[in-house]
This record gives sequence, structure tokens and C-alpha cells, in this order.
Amino acid sequence: MGHRKEASIIQSGIVLMKEKIARHTFHIKVQSQDFSQMQYVPGFTAQFFLGNPHYDIDCEDRKYSFWNYEPVHQIADFAICTFSNGKGADWIKSVQPGDIVYFEQPRGKLLVDNSADNYVLIGDITSLSHLYEINRGLAISKNIRSFVYTESNEDIFPDIDHSFPFEYHIINPVSEKAILEKVKRIFPAGFENTMVYTVGHPATCITIHHYLKNECNAPLHHLRTKPFWK
Ligand SMILES: Cc1cc2nc3c(=O)[nH]c(=O)nc-3n(C[C@H](O)[C@H](O)[C@H](O)COP(=O)(O)OP(=O)(O)OC[C@H]3O[C@@H](n4cnc5c(N)ncnc54)[C@H](O)[C@@H]3O)c2cc1C
Repeated sequence: MGHRKEASIIQSGIVLMKEKIARHTFHIKVQSQDFSQMQYVPGFTAQFFLGNPHYDIDCEDRKYSFWNYEPVHQIADFAICTFSNGKGADWIKSVQPGDIVYFEQPRGKLLVDNSADNYVLIGDITSLSHLYEINRGLAISKNIRSFVYTESNEDIFPDIDHSFPFEYHIINPVSEKAILEKVKRIFPAGFENTMVYTVGHPATCITIHHYLKNECNAPLHHLRTKPFWK
């Protein structure tokens, strides 16, 4: 959530489309010539300004994951949620097709990594688009298990190709202990060749990470854990 960005690092694009795809999620398509500067890898994120940083130098920003990127026409998809009722949620509610949106050069840390044979993808609705993009970036030969948790069916949206490739679970209220107990059932016996992406709800990320590290002795370099908010 940085402030006072140098004008030279501010990139922009046009919102081609906005659609409400679930009770708390909007899908936007953004086209930008600036996207041609990035070496896109699934797992990239863009830091969007919640306004025009050229005029408002204290403009806040929020990180959103690429759900899909189409390089020929330089069009990116994002799924932006409103669960928080925060400034990012207000921003996406107000964004309209035709608007210019501003962001920093996209980059990523939580990238697709094809070096393991087995994968477990765990996340909530806020991180669902990120997991869909990682899932499509994994080779067809990989053995992939998944666990997506949400409080309501009405929050689940399909992947960009309209498929539902994951295992979705209603857990109401979201409880890290309840999720851990259910997730344990899909973990393999050993973790030598298994990579686990745990993203989304902070307490759940931390609980699962500690379990894998302390009770399963999972190698740390195979744990991709990222709480999506504080
Ligand atoms: C690597 C990464 C990728 C991300 N990708 C996406 C993405 O693709 N789509 C997306 O919607 N968000 C994504 N986020 C989260 C996003 O950056 C914002 O943090 C989130 O949207 C909340 O911002 P806000 O201004 O609306 O709420 P804030 O003002 O930051 O928070 C308001 C309150 O809501 C709580 N809160 C924040 N987020 C949530 C939530 N999701 N559910 C429940 N409570 C919440 C906070 O704890 C706080 O109490 C990502 C975050 C990271 C770190």
C-alpha cells in the first residue's frame, strides 16, 4: 500500500469489461500496452492504484492477481472481491468499462513452479483466481489436489474457461481448525515431491503452514504460503 509513486513507474490500461460473477466478486478485463514490458509468468500480481496517482500523490494501492493474461491483445483478467468492505472493495464497485486504471509494473513472488510432481492448492475465494491461474500453468502430467473453502455457495465462481477444476468446501463460519482437519485428508503420506500453495485467509494460511512445517516436516522450499490480507 505504498504512497507517492514516481510518475515513471506508473502504468495504465483501459477497463474493457466489468461483470459481477459471484456474490462478492467482480471480474474485470484490462487492456494495456504497458503489459508488453512484462515477462509474464502465472502467479503475477499488479499493484493497482485506487484512483489517479498522477493527480493524487497519496493515492493508496492494492495488490490483485492476474487470473489470465492474453499477450496478443495485451488483455489481463482480474477477479476482485468485496468481502473486506475496505477501500479496494469500494474502488472495484466504482470502476466502470472505459475507465483508465493505474498500476505499477506487474511482478510476482507466488509464481507457478513446475519442479514437483504433486501439488496441493489451498485457498479461499479472494485467492481463487490466483489458484486457477497457477493450476492452468502446471503441466498436464502433474498430480493436483485442491481445497477451496468458503462460507457460501454463492461466492464460488468458475475458472475463466467456465470449468470448476477444484474441490470446493462450504465451511461456515470459516475456521482454521476445521479447515486443517479436512485438509489433512488430502495431504500425501510424504512431502518430498509435493508442493503446497496455501493462500488467502491469514489464520488458515498460518495454521496449515505450521502444521506442514512442524508436524509433517515438509521441506520449506516446497511450501508456498501467502496470507492475502492482514
Ligand atoms: C499476493 C496477493 C494477491 C492478491 N490478489 C487478490 C485478488 O486477486 N483479488 C482480491 O480481491 N484481492 C487480492 N488480494 C487482496 C487485496 O490486495 C486486498 O488486500 C483486499 O482486497 C482488501 O483490500 P481492501 O482495501 O478492500 O480492504 P482493507 O481496507 O485492506 O481491509 C478492510 C478490512 O477487511 C479485512 N479484509 C481484507 N481483505 C479481506 C478479505 N478478502 N476477506 C475478508 N476480510 C478481509 C481486513 O482485515 C480489514 O479488517 C491479494 C493480496 C495479495 C497479498
